[in-house]
Amino acid sequence: TKILGGYLNRIRTEETAKRLQLIDPLTNAMNLSAFTETAYQLIGDHKENTYLIFYSDIDKFKLINDTYGYSEGDRILIEFASAMDSILQNDECFGRISGDRFVGLFNYNNPKLFLSKIKQLNDRMNRISKTETDFYRISIIIGLSPVQEGSHLSLSIDRADMARKSITARHKSRYCFFNEAMKSNLMKQREIEDLMDDALEKEEFLVYYQPKVRLIDNEICGAEALVRWLQPEKGLIPPNDFIPIFEENKFILKLDLYVFEQVCKHLRKMLDQDKTIFPVSVNFSRLHLGNREILNQLQSIVTRYQVPTSYLELELTESALQENNAYMFSILKELHNMGFKISMDDFGSGLSSLNLLRTIPFDVVKLDKDFFHQETSTERERIVITNIVKMAQELHMKIVSEGVETKEQAAFLRSIHCDMAQGYLYAKPMPV
Ligand code: C2E
Ligand code: CA
Ligand code: CA
Repeated sequence: TKILGGYLNRIRTEETAKRLQLIDPLTNAMNLSAFTETAYQLIGDHKENTYLIFYSDIDKFKLINDTYGYSEGDRILIEFASAMDSILQNDECFGRISGDRFVGLFNYNNPKLFLSKIKQLNDRMNRISKTETDFYRISIIIGLSPVQEGSHLSLSIDRADMARKSITARHKSRYCFFNEAMKSNLMKQREIEDLMDDALEKEEFLVYYQPKVRLIDNEICGAEALVRWLQPEKGLIPPNDFIPIFEENKFILKLDLYVFEQVCKHLRKMLDQDKTIFPVSVNFSRLHLGNREILNQLQSIVTRYQVPTSYLELELTESALQENNAYMFSILKELHNMGFKISMDDFGSGLSSLNLLRTIPFDVVKLDKDFFHQETSTERERIVITNIVKMAQELHMKIVSEGVETKEQAAFLRSIHCDMAQGYLYAKPMPV
């Protein structure tokens, strides 16, 4: 009776949902509001159950979409929804929130059983791969949070989402339970978001510069601008604590322009004092490449300060450019035509570095600092670095090595004719 009852209930809710257009036509999954309603009903009907909220997304889904086309993306979503459906019991439900995000309400009375379901899900998704030319692995990232009695379901959904976000590429595990530390991270994040607009106005963001050195004669030949946040109460905050948050809430669009303007201001001041200036590179979020307006914005700043664009370099991380996006590339080309130098930051840290070199007009390649962070550099690594340098030069690009900390590293880089180096061996980032 229980099984049949549950089954009938499910059919009934599915029918109601369809009627009210609460079902996503692509995957046949419920949308968020239908999911929430069904989940409340199930929780109410099964007081004996311990429930979990499951929040998943598909790793690198956007990349797959952009590389293989939307039909491939759709195929994966349909497959995922069907995989979810197949592990579901009658006292459980799931829905699609948006894109590749799915939520589920799962029975957690038996943790082993639940974890075996996650394994099933992963195994099934791992098996689908593009067969003809390419092979890629699909992996699912899952955040989990218990459903608390009496509290709103959206709280558990938020927490499961937080747990999901905490999973980084470095983690072996593909699922994670919410914990209180994540909450304090979120609170820190909220605090940063509360303060950021004021901080920009009050000029709490400072531009530090780290020199770049020409390896043949150890002379300074440029610098990279790196932002810091001087909070009145906490002191200097490093960019890794706030840039990822600003990337997410798009505040980075304002901050990068501010840094860019500060750099132009500094260069103008030095020109006015008849000092020699060096090219300065600024870090440039990929979000800028989503809107042509950036071309006018940069142009108006360089015009205002009368700084030649050839003294300004825009550093884009290679992971930013992996998404094969023609619009993005066209903006990059225009920036290049305006005279800005374009630099590929963190070269070698991602997947498609070499591919990108073929298609984008880079002037500079920055070798990722991780190349040097291994304890010992093996012969193989030396061969790789040597050939990257060679290739960059044949493509008429300058090459900068980041994170150079020892004389041995510098000597090696000099011996393979790398152009420039940047790192603690020479100087840390410092005020203008
Ligand atoms: P990045 O662009 O890869 O910058 C290089 C980072 O390596 C800097 O960290 C720098 O201080 C550090 N570094 C320099 N030399 C050495 C060395 O010899 N050894 C080691 N271990 N590290 C070295 P920082 O300043 O903390 O910046 C972190 C990241 O934050 C930057 O990585 C960049 O991605 C981002 N960032 C900084 N300023 C901005 C900005 O104005 N806009 C944007 N969008 N991102 C920024
Ligand atoms: Ca950089
Ligand atoms: Ca870098």
